Amino acid sequence: MDLNSPLFDRIRTQRRPREEKRESTMKCDSPGCEADGAYRAPMGRLREGQYFCFCLDHVREYNATYNYFNGMNDADVARYMKDATIGHRPTWAMGTRRGATGFREEGGPTADPLGMNRAKFHRRAPEKREPRYSPVTMRAFAALDLDETAGPEAVRARYKELVKRHHPDANGGDRSREEKLREIIHAYKTLRAARLA
Ligand SMILES: [Zn+2]
Repeated sequence: MDLNSPLFDRIRTQRRPREEKRESTMKCDSPGCEADGAYRAPMGRLREGQYFCFCLDHVREYNATYNYFNGMNDADVARYMKDATIGHRPTWAMGTRRGATGFREEGGPTADPLGMNRAKFHRRAPEKREPRYSPVTMRAFAALDLDETAGPEAVRARYKELVKRHHPDANGGDRSREEKLREIIHAYKTLRAARLA
């Protein structure tokens, strides 16, 4: 049996799955892509038996958009491919794996061929978090060396501790810390008034 006969070549060719790597040094058919066009994909409607040769990234891209081409005429398809390549659609160029052509491997362009998610993407404003408490309250927490997550018990405990530490009686009658002590007491009163202590 001659395994090198043209007949076997033909059988092998016909049985070759669509994405199977083939021996070829042809460039990818996606315009501007310099990668090897080692994967082939059927051109589709009205082009039965004809194939594009793509690199892995672009054959994935193509296969993912394949249904999208149903009902489109060849000019539409060509325009689609061209737009995709040049990156007319902003979302398409924002992939994590942007290559020379602006494609991303999966998810991006092909998952949203009509740009339905684009508006959503652009409308998302930077997160603006309102501060939980007023500046006065925040300063009161800071005066007690606490942040705003401190609960009433923690506030009371810290207050007692600081009063003890800064009280003249604890400092041999040294009154130089009175200002700090006043600040601590004021802060505590502020938090009490805000029901945070
Ligand atoms: Zn390619």
